[in-house]
Amino acid sequence: MKQYYDVVIIGSGFGGSITACRLAEAQKEKGKEVSVCVLERGKRYNMGEFPREVAKPKDWWWRKGGKCGWKGLMEFRSFENISVLVGSGVGGTSLVYLDVQINAFESTFDIIGPEGQRRWPSAIRGCSPEVSEGKGLDNMLPYYQRVFEMLRPSPIPDPTLKTRALKAGAEGAGASDRFKLLDLAIYWGNNGSEKGVLNEDPYGRGGPPQIACSYCGECYIGCNTHSKNTLDLNYLWLAQKAGAEVYSQHKVVKIEQNPDNHPVHPRGYTVHYENLRWNFSGSVSAKILILAGGSLGSTELLLQCKHGYKRRCKKVEPALPEISDMLGKYFSGNGDFGAGGFETNRAIDPMVGPTITATVDYGDKLDGHGFIIEDGGLPDILRANLRRLPVGYAAGRRWFDFLRKFLSRSGNTLLAQEIFNRLDFDAIRDAILYLVMGIDAADGVMSIDEEGNLEIDWNNKNSMDFFREIEKTLREITELKTGLDGNLMFNPTWSARRHLITVHPLGGCPMGDSDTKGVVDADGQVFNYPNLYVADGAIVPSALGPNPSKTIGALAERISEKIKEKGI
Ligand SMILES: Cc1cc2nc3c(=O)[nH]c(=O)nc-3n(C[C@H](O)[C@H](O)[C@H](O)COP(=O)(O)OP(=O)(O)OC[C@H]3O[C@@H](n4cnc5c(N)ncnc54)[C@H](O)[C@@H]3O)c2cc1C
Repeated sequence: MKQYYDVVIIGSGFGGSITACRLAEAQKEKGKEVSVCVLERGKRYNMGEFPREVAKPKDWWWRKGGKCGWKGLMEFRSFENISVLVGSGVGGTSLVYLDVQINAFESTFDIIGPEGQRRWPSAIRGCSPEVSEGKGLDNMLPYYQRVFEMLRPSPIPDPTLKTRALKAGAEGAGASDRFKLLDLAIYWGNNGSEKGVLNEDPYGRGGPPQIACSYCGECYIGCNTHSKNTLDLNYLWLAQKAGAEVYSQHKVVKIEQNPDNHPVHPRGYTVHYENLRWNFSGSVSAKILILAGGSLGSTELLLQCKHGYKRRCKKVEPALPEISDMLGKYFSGNGDFGAGGFETNRAIDPMVGPTITATVDYGDKLDGHGFIIEDGGLPDILRANLRRLPVGYAAGRRWFDFLRKFLSRSGNTLLAQEIFNRLDFDAIRDAILYLVMGIDAADGVMSIDEEGNLEIDWNNKNSMDFFREIEKTLREITELKTGLDGNLMFNPTWSARRHLITVHPLGGCPMGDSDTKGVVDADGQVFNYPNLYVADGAIVPSALGPNPSKTIGALAERISEKIKEKGI
């Protein structure tokens, strides 16, 4: 690694990979060298390297800041009323995401939060702050198109049983016109479906080999056949070809602004990192610094830089104290809500096919601030691994037994019975899983404790009408005799304690028209800190409604364009 770069990027998910690619390519356009360095805390996964042994938790989970070998593929963090699951690795959460590429609702860009503020900045809405209906979606369309052209999403060629089940549920609820197949960023083969066939360069742009999707259902534990068009196989691959350097297992711990007399980058930024592979610390300086550690990662880092913290009796002084007081605001779980329909009237086999394939779109409900319902799935590997373990099902049973007792102790005996009557891995052939998302109130607040650890204060109060409407609609889709004729069960943590689980964290460093309304401007630049950018889900100032990665990607495309216009 060099000591100085034109651009340093923290994180390699949607925000990081896209800015890395576009800014490294700027080199060709400008005819001068543009050096780009990406620092990613997680590991790199080549074809076939994703973990599959359930008995090796350190391969699966990122914990303890990556110390003691906890450098796994996913991070699960639990907060007040909400838990969050994100990915960790070269390619970011795209490694474990479920491939859906979809635009935000048209109404999203005009959202007014419960505090009465219009959330999106005027430059994105294409009008002054007072105008009620802007052209946000129209303005974003060219950037959505760029993401589309890179990730090449298309609907599943051979719809599965669960796709058909969701369609039947929609029909039964009188909502057949709301059903549609989703665009999925998956390589299916060059001539329709060619399950299992390897292609050396499927998209003809000098990319890596990929094997056409074999419908194994393992999308969210890392695709070992590289059938998913994850970011390491396109944007980041092309960024590296254009000269960007990508360093895995490099966790950024601190950012400082350089002094005026810095020898290379006066008023630039110095980034301090820990090399988790070889266990040493280092630093690197940049003219332009882009944070793309995701909603949690970027916000946590900036909160530490704004406020300082104490660790092991050592005080770390605030390094970027002038960041807006809006830092930490407008956290949203994008209305994520999980449920399952059991004992339906048909075979569904949720373990076959890409995890998500289709949607029933209720975006027009609640004055255009509604939700969409998607089919979910389970990787078959879980069942296979439990069988292979020396203690086999016994280990799993002990864990579930603990969960059952826990739920019973917290006064949820009936719920515990309900769950465990249905929990039979061999008999979920007739079960349909639902992943629902939409426009929650996006009024969560992120902060840090004395030791610099992230906290999220989430309250369902302002989102309760929204969740009630989801519950009612799921009931119609699942339980009507004209449709699936099954029994609905919500995510147990919701039923027991109104605790949500989200895979779509957004906000924390929201965009805004000024530093009293946001942390970054419409171009992603942090107010009061020139050349410091945030380009990931953290800048999204409201819930988006549908799955967010395409919009985060489009915003990153827009930010890259603006950085190039200003000059690197
Ligand atoms: C199970 C699951 C399924 C999903 N399915 C879909 C879907 O189908 N469609 C969709 O649109 N969205 C989906 N999402 C959400 C989507 O993946 C995220 O919205 C998107 O990846 C967010 O992009 P990002 O750039 O903000 O952050 P991320 O993609 O999360 O990338 C952030 C990166 O920064 C790294 N990082 C964080 N902190 C540091 C640090 N201090 N130093 C160095 N590196 C750091 C992280 O390891 C990570 O690689 C899913 C998410 C999950 C978990």
